[in-house]
Amino acid sequence: MNPFNYQRATAPDQAIKAVSVSGAKFLGGGTNLVDLMRYDVEHPTTLIDITHVGFDQIAATGTTAIIGAGVRNSDLANHETIRTNYPLLSYALLSGASPQLRNMATTGGNLMQRTRCYYFMDTAFSECNKRTPGSGCAAIKGFNRIHAILGASGGGNGHADCIATNPSDMSVALAALNATIHVTGPKGKRTIPIADFHRLPGDTPQLDTNLKPDELITAVELPAPKFAKHSYYLKVRDRQSYAFALVSVAAGLEMDGNTIKSAGLALGGVAHKPWRSTDAEKSLVGATAGPDSFKRAANFAVSGAVPREHNAFKIELAKQSIVRALTLAAQGVQA
Ligand code: SF4
Repeated sequence: MNPFNYQRATAPDQAIKAVSVSGAKFLGGGTNLVDLMRYDVEHPTTLIDITHVGFDQIAATGTTAIIGAGVRNSDLANHETIRTNYPLLSYALLSGASPQLRNMATTGGNLMQRTRCYYFMDTAFSECNKRTPGSGCAAIKGFNRIHAILGASGGGNGHADCIATNPSDMSVALAALNATIHVTGPKGKRTIPIADFHRLPGDTPQLDTNLKPDELITAVELPAPKFAKHSYYLKVRDRQSYAFALVSVAAGLEMDGNTIKSAGLALGGVAHKPWRSTDAEKSLVGATAGPDSFKRAANFAVSGAVPREHNAFKIELAKQSIVRALTLAAQGVQA
């Protein structure tokens, strides 16, 4: 562990000012950042503890929910109104990590999780464009079973190679729910739609999000609940708990009888960001819930997928997972 300074901020402005120091980073629950510091992947000079800046409230009504960035994952997953109005979010949170980690991890920190690509996490491998821009990508020719099939950079498409996936379950549900991220910084407040918050690797795989280094996430806003009765989070992984998704599906349906009025559909474990498929969602609108419409949506969702040596199985797995998640959502089955 490298030495670092620690400061506890008690107000957002104080935190933003403190993080302007070169090499400073915000510290939430620390469940990812501290691991990366121990692995010698992250080397902040100063940690600005933001768990006391006052972002630990949930304001949920029948028409919206504003979730403070400091709300712990356990508190969010078990909040009565969230469980009732946005069960998809609750399911996704409860499928992630362990109870101990969920008790520490924050909403803002969950959004900022970094990839669990083996080669990124292990500094014995010198090639990693995300850790060291320009160094290459060990995963492209290495063991890439857990890596991306959609939206990746590499294999001669003219971008800096990176086939990493985003590890967050919560963010996949937020994508299907069309959440908005509230942030503040030296230039004031702004909002970022969840679809624009995380990035594809492109030429800058070292950047996971469009948040600026001196900007602080203050809250996550959810729109009016549409999928409370018909939503399902399906997570497929190598073991039943404490594992990241090979493929996950956040599926929400707004139903009128057996006809779909609107849909939210996002995938996890397949791309550098939660992979929301608006084409798949549009294909479901007006359709009768059932295998034909769900298979059609699945084909839209994985359109353009590019497999690597060890992860071609993810394409069929994603399609079948989508059909299953949509089927269970339509039936009103609770995860
Ligand atoms: Fe690094 Fe991305 Fe390649 Fe993994 S996939 S080794 S994170 S560049």
